[in-house]
Amino acid sequence: MDTGDLAERVKAGERRALARAITLVESARADHREAAAELVAEVGKAGQQALRIGLSGTPGVGKSTFIEAFGLFLVEKGLKVAVLAVDPSSARSGGSILGDKTRMEQLSRHPMAFIRPSPSQSQLGGVARRSREAVALCEGAGFDVVLVETVGVGQSETMVAGMVDLFLLLLAPAGGDELQGVKRGIMEIADILLVNKADGALRDVARRTCADYAGALRLLRKRPQDPEGFPKALLVSAVEGTGMEEAWAEMEALVNWRRDSGAWDRTRAEQAQHWFEEEVRHGLMRRLTEDKALAARMRELGAAVAGGERSPAEAATEILSRLG
Ligand code: GDP
Repeated sequence: MDTGDLAERVKAGERRALARAITLVESARADHREAAAELVAEVGKAGQQALRIGLSGTPGVGKSTFIEAFGLFLVEKGLKVAVLAVDPSSARSGGSILGDKTRMEQLSRHPMAFIRPSPSQSQLGGVARRSREAVALCEGAGFDVVLVETVGVGQSETMVAGMVDLFLLLLAPAGGDELQGVKRGIMEIADILLVNKADGALRDVARRTCADYAGALRLLRKRPQDPEGFPKALLVSAVEGTGMEEAWAEMEALVNWRRDSGAWDRTRAEQAQHWFEEEVRHGLMRRLTEDKALAARMRELGAAVAGGERSPAEAATEILSRLG
């Protein structure tokens, strides 16, 4: 496969090339891995930057409805929008949370949008890398906004937060008791909480919920990457398409502040460094498991450590010295 040619076509914004490139980064084959790494590096050379937005929320909160409404709002502004899904649960039937054709029907047909379903049968570690590389490919293909959707399971949210510039948490209108159910950790990684379904009979509950969240956010310690007033809680209705303008204005205000303050560059630099270290860790683990002699020695030493004949640190030193 000629990765150079594919890279050129991705950079030119050809969606079929982009789809193929993402398939390549999703592949677990060793030769594909190498080609994928080369491709991502090549595409990244152009230095294109998109606004990467993470979006999370429990099933049923309205993520796909919101992405459809918000995505259409963005394309109408003349922005190119890519949507990727990160789905850590391989248990899902078909493995794809975007597999359902009825999801984001209008957006998926829009010439300015690109929607990529999540790959099936994935493990979280692999998902992280594939998603990050897919984001980089969309960025290199000239998309202005890359939306990364994930279901609300703690680990995947942290992972997605590590690859985006902005993190949105979609919430449902709820009583005070349910408010407590939102984990502090997720509140801390979110930049904007969006209370969805602020329409019809739910409007008043949504308003109260939003005020409650705003109150809870004020109790959090101010983060260095935030201006005054963030994180923020806002109301939206994905079904009616209301609140999009306000939500986008807040996102832009936050992003502009972060760009001016240097927080944007700092976060991206830290993320890149983190992913580099993850790649090294991953590569080392792969060598340990792929080299049969090493893997056998790992098992022997593991048993020896369990039996108390060797100390963990000393046994690890032996393995590491064999890596050369
Ligand atoms: P997801 O599982 O988070 O992707 O949620 P969906 O987008 O599939 O929405 C789940 C249900 O909530 C569907 O029945 C939607 O019609 C409904 N829903 C989504 N957004 C809104 C909204 O803004 N208002 C109301 N009333 N219902 C909504």
